[in-house]
Amino acid sequence: MGDDASLARSQPAAERRLLRAVEDLREELFDFAARLVRVPTVNPPGEAYAECAELMTGELSRCGFETRRIVAEGRPEHTARHPRVNLLASRAGSGTSPALHFNGHVDVVPAGAGWSVDPFAGALRDGRLWGRGSADMKAGLACAVYACEAIRRAGVRLAGPLEVSATVDEETGGQAGVRYLAEQGHLDPLRVGWVVIPEPFSPQRICVGHRGVYWFRLVTRGRTAHGSMPFLGHSAIGDMTRVLELVRDRLGPLAAKVVTELPVVPEGARRGSLNLNSLWGGQVPSGEEPAALLQSPCVADRCELVVDRRFVPEEELEEVRAQVTGVLGELADEQPPITVEIVDLLSVEPTRTPVGSPLVAALETSIQRVLGRPAEQVASPGTYDQKHFDRIAGIPHCVAYGPGELEQAHQPDESCSLAAMVEATAVMALTAVELLGVT
Ligand SMILES: [Zn+2]
Repeated sequence: MGDDASLARSQPAAERRLLRAVEDLREELFDFAARLVRVPTVNPPGEAYAECAELMTGELSRCGFETRRIVAEGRPEHTARHPRVNLLASRAGSGTSPALHFNGHVDVVPAGAGWSVDPFAGALRDGRLWGRGSADMKAGLACAVYACEAIRRAGVRLAGPLEVSATVDEETGGQAGVRYLAEQGHLDPLRVGWVVIPEPFSPQRICVGHRGVYWFRLVTRGRTAHGSMPFLGHSAIGDMTRVLELVRDRLGPLAAKVVTELPVVPEGARRGSLNLNSLWGGQVPSGEEPAALLQSPCVADRCELVVDRRFVPEEELEEVRAQVTGVLGELADEQPPITVEIVDLLSVEPTRTPVGSPLVAALETSIQRVLGRPAEQVASPGTYDQKHFDRIAGIPHCVAYGPGELEQAHQPDESCSLAAMVEATAVMALTAVELLGVT
């Protein structure tokens, strides 16, 4: 927290009460975040979503919210074994301001190996909350709920409504989560003015967007023959070596050419990038995934490469695609010609919060007040649910702001600082007052 004495002199009474309320509820905040970590909402496959929605419903109801379960009926991910249960909660304001909406994803990636603590025990120790999803992003979701609760306990009457949504499947693209809510009209831009997604960027940083993604597969095909007489066949792996050369030597430099204005961190991600995700060639047992390479006495008749190209807002998706088809098209002129099939897997446009957004200004003011130092604007190398709020719901005034460190996400021994949780809660509460106004 910042300098209490100067806060007391310069801030209106409502804000002083609010900061005191945040301090008073810190233990409840930590306890709720720990209880969220204890629900193992592992995705894939999407475990325990209903249980998590129930926990959220109980807490939000206690904090004066009306809650609504929104199940992603009709989505292929939604099954009887793994139901996709989202939650949308709102608390009315006493004026006509548009709503401030906090959105957190409840799913976490699988724990993986290398833990020294139980990933789902939700331990509170050494000033941190430990467990899978602590930083990404159950601590942030708990902070959003308790920022709203601090406003209520401080007796501050906002001129607009507060909303909290707890959604599924962000880690796998958010189709049955935020995207579903947006497509079904639950995120009406006439009602919702601003969105804060408490992903772990640290209490001083406001994340104002992310880079785009073009994910594709390259396939070469050969002709099989006995491995002892490879000259009688044509190796798809041999062709792929030429493809790999072009991807590395031509597409790689093209990807790194444009430097963005967007403040992406780390600095190295301020350009596009290209990653070779996986490579496979040869024979597979029929009907099985190529998880392990087979020893087989044959010439490989198929080889596949998956490439993950990230691009910056200054590049167009169509232009990025055209680079791939243009460079690989040259293979047709080789002697003998090489054909490579390009299969689109996924594309996401970059997104950026409008410059001069009142949401960013309110967060900047609140960060300065709470931390006593200026806010820093950043952007994310990877995508998150902001794309769905922006592109599908049509709500451009969206940012990510939350406690925790991005480096903790998806790691063994994931944890989140409790002090950062208190700071982020105070910032979110003050931001609500700044944006919506009090009556
Ligand atoms: Zn996340």
